[in-house]
Amino acid sequence: MKLFTHSIFTHRRIIIIFLLAIFIPSLIAAYLSLSTFPKRREAIKKLLESNLWISGESALKSIEGTILDHEQKALKSEYFVRFIQSGKSVQANRSSPVSSEGSVGQFFLLDADFKIILPETGSENTSGIQWGEEIQNSRFAKSFKSAEFFEFSQKNYSQAADLYKKCALDTSSDQFRAVAYEGLGRCLLLSEKYNEAYKVYNELSEKWGQLLNKAGHPYGIIAKFQLYEIDSKRRDTESSLGILVSLYKQIREGTWLISQPVYDFYIAEIESILNSKAGKFAEIQESCSEIQKRQSPYGQILIFKNLLERNVIPGIKEKLSLYREGNEAMQGRLPGSIENDFFMVSYAILQDLQPGKIFYCGFYWNLNLLKNQVIPKILNDLSKDSGLDFKIINEEDQNISKGKEGSASGKSIALAFRIFPLPWKLLVSHPEIKALEKSAHREILFYGILLAIIVALMLLGAALLARDISRESETNRLKTEFVNNISHELKTPLTLIRLYGETLQRKDNLTNEEKKDCYEIITKESERLSHLINNVLDFSRIEMGRKEFDLRKGYLQDVIIETLESYRYHLEKKGFVIHKDIAQDLPEMNFDGEAIASVLVNLLSNAMKFSPKEKEVTVKLFRDNGNVVLQVADKGIGISQKEIPKIFQRFYQAENKIASEARGSGLGLTLVKNIVEAHGGTIVVESEVGKGSRFVVRIPLLGI
Ligand code: ADP
Repeated sequence: MKLFTHSIFTHRRIIIIFLLAIFIPSLIAAYLSLSTFPKRREAIKKLLESNLWISGESALKSIEGTILDHEQKALKSEYFVRFIQSGKSVQANRSSPVSSEGSVGQFFLLDADFKIILPETGSENTSGIQWGEEIQNSRFAKSFKSAEFFEFSQKNYSQAADLYKKCALDTSSDQFRAVAYEGLGRCLLLSEKYNEAYKVYNELSEKWGQLLNKAGHPYGIIAKFQLYEIDSKRRDTESSLGILVSLYKQIREGTWLISQPVYDFYIAEIESILNSKAGKFAEIQESCSEIQKRQSPYGQILIFKNLLERNVIPGIKEKLSLYREGNEAMQGRLPGSIENDFFMVSYAILQDLQPGKIFYCGFYWNLNLLKNQVIPKILNDLSKDSGLDFKIINEEDQNISKGKEGSASGKSIALAFRIFPLPWKLLVSHPEIKALEKSAHREILFYGILLAIIVALMLLGAALLARDISRESETNRLKTEFVNNISHELKTPLTLIRLYGETLQRKDNLTNEEKKDCYEIITKESERLSHLINNVLDFSRIEMGRKEFDLRKGYLQDVIIETLESYRYHLEKKGFVIHKDIAQDLPEMNFDGEAIASVLVNLLSNAMKFSPKEKEVTVKLFRDNGNVVLQVADKGIGISQKEIPKIFQRFYQAENKIASEARGSGLGLTLVKNIVEAHGGTIVVESEVGKGSRFVVRIPLLGI
């Protein structure tokens, strides 16, 4: 109980010291250092956020600046001047970059009535030949009419052909000559003069290809078609299809400015012929698919024209009508959409193009190019300079620009286009914020784990310290007790020796019997004294590491019998019954005789001390496989299970001591264990409180 309160007290003191001196200050220090992380992070975050605004604004400015620059250049009248010069040179116009691939947009030019001047296409009501007043009664007209009469009414094709030929010679106008040639070709075909017809159509195509016939179809196309027909009749199909393929290519490229229906008609016609016939000819097939791979430039122009007519022109008209009153805006922008596809047009009114006339010029932005190439290029450069992430997002906050993928990371801001009303936003984000957050998390985790490890180590250290201190204090307590006991143990035999010595000295009238008793007591007590002193000396030798065992070959049974015999007197004197069962056939083995005797003496002495009632001791020595087993059993007070592990500790004495006589040094069993282990053996105890104990020593025969 005393021990218990003592250790509790020690522990509590250690815990308080530990908490006050180490644990709490460390925790406070750790908390203070950890708490600065979020604050620091917050401060950096704010700084980066304000940086986002500034950089975002300047990025927006730079994008809008580039677009506005482009717009400014695109809407200059110098550029459009060449399209409205009188006497329109068709060929010159053709080279205009109306819709060149990779351009930021498409130009267009409207006249004061919003008729499309650029891009140039054929209009639907264009018809070729106009019979002017002066022509009506000319020789050409007369001959032409009679040729038509022979051709259509009389079906006299050779006569008609002669007359058409004459017509062609009679006129100096290309237009009329072409009409006559058309008739001539037709009649030659009907009269199956293919070679001549071929020549005529070839001339028609080469000389007057750009001119239109009465139905508004260019002679170039008509003549080529006829050449194909003649060729397919005369020669093999492959070369005739070649004519068609080159015609197909020319139409798509816009060699003739034809109207949408004419374009659609010829393209469909040629495609149907090629589809049905070209399959057999790999080369034709290949060049055909080569052409189809690319978009039809003229087709694109027609689509663009359509779009202008349907969406852009009405939009511009509406916008301008709003400005009619008051000062008219010279420039404007028209955002709009066709089937969810956003478009953007910049337009301007040109007053200085032709004196007294106004024109509307415009630029239809290629938004895909803008968002996938122009803007990303600007943003990339900015990104490199500023270290920020830029993205173009739509109204649903989805990234629509090519390049960097994924959603915005970390903190970001979205800025709308203000000057140039694009339906997108510029998303500016700082990749470092995310990285910062990540590293802060990692830092906190790292320091958290470190802190936990430090706390755990502290607790472990404290526990070890507490155990050590409590052990030390326990040893100290045992030592004090040992000193008390040993003094008592020394005092008792000394007192007796002195008492009986004095008796012998003073009393002369002692009987022989009495004298013998006195000598016996003196001898016994001095033996006890020397046993005690031997134990203490042995112990101190062992403690100091100086104990050496004198191992010699011999018979263990001899030492046991001898020791038992010499101790028999003490036991019997105390009223003990001794049972012994010593095997005689044990082989020779190595041991220290004196030490082994001391083992038996200590065990017998304990058996004697702790058997107050039933005084019975059994000593057994036998061989068990490779071991020699020494058993010393008594029927004494026994040892509680709790104490069994402790009795071999130095100075330890069990609580349940029965009498002062049973006091000892607490060294006996420590010595026994030490000696047994020095012989490579073990000692165990089987005991039950109130029933007795049995100490079993096991020494290997070939142990050492
Ligand atoms: P001591 O000098 O006190 O006998 P020991 O080291 O020999 O010291 O024994 C330690 C303790 O073990 C004893 O105080 C006693 O309580 C207990 N003990 C030893 N032998 C026996 C036994 N045969 N029966 C009961 N208790 C015993």
